[in-house]
Formats: sequence, structure tokens, C-alpha cells
Amino acid sequence: MKKIAIYFLMFIFICFILPALLTKNDIATTALDEASSEKENKTNQENQLESNTQFTEYNYENYGTIKLLHAKTGEVEEVKLDDYLCNVVSAEMPADFELDALKAQAIVARTYTIYKIQNKKHDNADICDDSACCQAWISKEDRLNRWDENLRESNWAKIEQCVYGTSGKIITYNNQPINAFFHSNSGGTTELPVNVWGRRK
Ligand SMILES: [Zn+2]
Repeated sequence: MKKIAIYFLMFIFICFILPALLTKNDIATTALDEASSEKENKTNQENQLESNTQFTEYNYENYGTIKLLHAKTGEVEEVKLDDYLCNVVSAEMPADFELDALKAQAIVARTYTIYKIQNKKHDNADICDDSACCQAWISKEDRLNRWDENLRESNWAKIEQCVYGTSGKIITYNNQPINAFFHSNSGGTTELPVNVWGRRK
């Protein structure tokens, strides 16, 4: 009777437990292989993206000045690119943010501006000062008036330092300026651009 029980247990072990153990091992190995090949793929993609995405020195001889449309008045003003960016950066980001954050904002705003010059939305201007349409902008006078008097000079100097300190820097992909969207607050979640604006044709 004991022998039968032992044979029965061996039968169960060979038929069910052993294959389960072997398969489990296989599955684990396959999962590991997939994970490492996925990782490899991802690294390749990242490398590819990295090699195509880069900081490029912008040649100001192309567009040293831009035509800025003031949305409320309809007036078009011609301004130097980096002077315009000081007004943009001071409108887009609080001046008490870290220097590097403001510098990043300046580079993104410059990239976005060059992209807009090359992909015009307005007939008579390169870009407008409406943040819902193109990019935020505030006049220097209005900007200074909204800061505490004792901070006006140092805040404006900080903005200029970030814009002129990154002069010429834009972000390109395959040698073209990227469409550098940015937001001040994502509300805790983000969405793929294609789901917001659709796919470009
Ligand atoms: Zn616009």
C-alpha cells in the first residue's frame, strides 16, 4: 500500500510538478530576455533621439529681429529677437525661479520663436503676444511695475542674464528647430500632443 502511495506521488511529481517547474524557469528566462531586448531597444531609440536632438547655435543673421503682433491693438512691432525674449521669459516664469530654470525657459522660448518664424500663423507678423495663440509677452514697463520696487533692477538683470547668457542656443531635431511646446502647470498629468492637437499631416 505504501509502495503504491510512493509511485502515485512520483507520478504526480513527474506529470505535473516537474513540467511546471521547468516551464516556470523558461517563462522567467523569456521574460528576462524580453526585458533586456526591450531595454536594448529603448537605449537604441534614446541614442537615436539623442544624436538627432541637440543644441544648435542659431545664426542671428537669419532673423535678428522679429515682427511681433500685439493682439489687443493689432499693432506690429519690429524688435530684436533676444530683447523680445526678455519680455517673454519674464512673462512666462517668475523671476525668483532658479537661474537654470530661467535659462531653460529662454532656450525653449527662443526655439519656439524660431519655429514660429519658419511656420507662420499670422500673415503680417512672425508671432503674437497672446499666450493662447503664440507665446506670452509683457512690456518691460508693465513687468517692472508688477514687481516690488526693490526687486525691479535685480529681477530684470537676472532675466537678461538668462536670455543673453544663452544667446543663440536653440533645440533642433534633424537640424530643424523643434516645436517647443511648454506649459506652466500640467495639473498633475500630461497627455500626448497627438491627442491634443492631432497628428501633423
Ligand atoms: Zn499668434
